[in-house]
This record gives sequence, C-alpha cells and structure tokens, in this order.
Amino acid sequence: MNLIERPREMQECSLKLRREGRRIGLVPTMGFLHEGHAALIRRARTLADWCVVSVFVNPTQFGPHEDFTAYPRDPQRDAELCRACGADALFRPAAADMYAADHSVYVDERDLSAGLCGAFRPGHFRGVLTVVAKLFNLVQPDVAVFGQKDAQQARLIQRLVRDLNFPVHVVIEPTVREPDGLALSSRNAYLNADERRRALSLSQALRRAEALVREGERDAERLKAAMRPILEAAAPTEIQYLEIVNYQTLRPTPQVAGPTLIAVAVKFGKTRLIDNVIVGR
Ligand code: AMP
Repeated sequence: MNLIERPREMQECSLKLRREGRRIGLVPTMGFLHEGHAALIRRARTLADWCVVSVFVNPTQFGPHEDFTAYPRDPQRDAELCRACGADALFRPAAADMYAADHSVYVDERDLSAGLCGAFRPGHFRGVLTVVAKLFNLVQPDVAVFGQKDAQQARLIQRLVRDLNFPVHVVIEPTVREPDGLALSSRNAYLNADERRRALSLSQALRRAEALVREGERDAERLKAAMRPILEAAAPTEIQYLEIVNYQTLRPTPQVAGPTLIAVAVKFGKTRLIDNVIVGR
C-alpha cells in the first residue's frame, strides 16, 4: 500500500492511473478507522481496481467550539486497517498542504444543508463539500463510497456531484453497528461506560419507529411520540433533533410515503451522536 502525503503527488499519481485506464475508488474519512470504514473500503475494492482511502481531519468542517483538536487520531492503526482491507493507497495530507493560508473558494449548498445537522452546525457542510470537492479533484475517483450513517452528508454529496457535474459515481453503504445496535463512530471513543450504555437509546428509538412502520404506522407525529420517551429515558444532555423527513428533499414530512429518513442527534455530555434509518422504500 502506498502512503501519499502531498496533494500534488496524489493528483499526479491518479491522473497517470486514469490515463492507463484504471478505475479509481475513493473512501474519504477523518481517520480513527473502525469496521464501518472497513466496510466502505471493502465495497470500494469491489467497484474499482485502485482503491484510495483518504484520512484527513478537515478543519473547515468544525465549528469554533467543536472537537477539532480533540478529534481522536491513530495514524498507525489506520494504516494497518487500510492495508488489511486491501486499500492500494492511503492519502494523508497535512492541513497546511490542503488549504493555502489565503484559501477563499468554498462550496456552499443552499437547500439540503439547511435542516437536520446543518441547523445545529453552521458552516459544517460548507467545509465538508469543499473538502470533498478538493478530494475529488486530487484523487480523480470514478467511484466514491460514503456511509448512510451520515445520511444528510451522503445526500449532499449526491447533490454536489449532480450540481457541479463531477464525473464520480456516489455509492452509499448501510450503517455498520455494534452487536447491541450502537452505530459505529469514531466519536464513540469519547463515551464513558455509562454514556455508552445510554447511547443505545438512539438505535433503540429508531428500531421502535421501524417496527411501527412495519406494523403500518405512517403518521410522523405518532412515530416521533413513540421515539421521544426512549431517547428521554436515557437522560441525554440534549436532544438536538428527532426528525422525519422525505429522503429526497430532507424536508419534514407528516407521513411516511416513499423513502423517508428518520434521524436523531443527541448529546451525552459534550459528545454529539447521530443515527438514522430509512423507512418506506
Ligand atoms: P468519518 O471518518 O466519520 O468522517 O466517516 C467517513 C465515512 O465513513 C463517511 O462516509 C461516514 O458516513 C462513514 N461511516 C462512519 N461511520 C459509519 C458506520 N458506522 N457505518 C458505515 N459507514 C460509516
């Protein structure tokens, strides 16, 4: 596996491979890799013949009071996981090489980014879309794989590709969970044992909603009313949102009709956890 740190080197390598007719796959990550990332890498391997994993804790997607400096990092273990999953290259740029000191061009989305996490993390998706656009230009992927764990992000990347005409096929993979249901996340590392136990309330509430939809419930308010006590019983520091939205528009819908995203964001102490399910498809 190649370790590439310079953006310029990454781009030259990819342009050469494309000229040779190779099909490039990209899995963008912020590192501290887990089995959720591993599933994306394995999927990318089946879709491309040269698979790049990027590890970059992107400063522009963190707010001023968020966990950029505290974000967990383990470069050696990340490299081992990438190698074990069969990645061909690990692209690990330094922030100073990705952003010029006077960097001034950003990708700003004005529709899908308004609600859900976008409402609580101003500027977050601007940072995400800007770095993903940069990664697409540097890695020149034919296919890029993202996780449904970050459902709004995945929809935004589909919109980025459509609206700015990136020649990239976007693939979204299901959320990988612990055996007890907790969605894997690098941020789970912040949880103490008690918070880890209470964090199960997210997947439990989502499973309850899924079960009700299977039984025929379609009313969004009734679904939320069934979920909220499950979240509240875990005494979170804050329930940021519990939303039922149309999966295409990400706008609240009164009824489950067609693909519908049920999404939650909850804080335990300073740790912000998100999870979601898609129903009605
Ligand atoms: P992150 O490193 O958290 O920015 O995530 C990098 C990619 O991995 C994103 O596309 C995430 O949606 C995806 N991802 C994170 N957690 C999971 C999970 N539990 N299952 C599947 N994909 C995930």
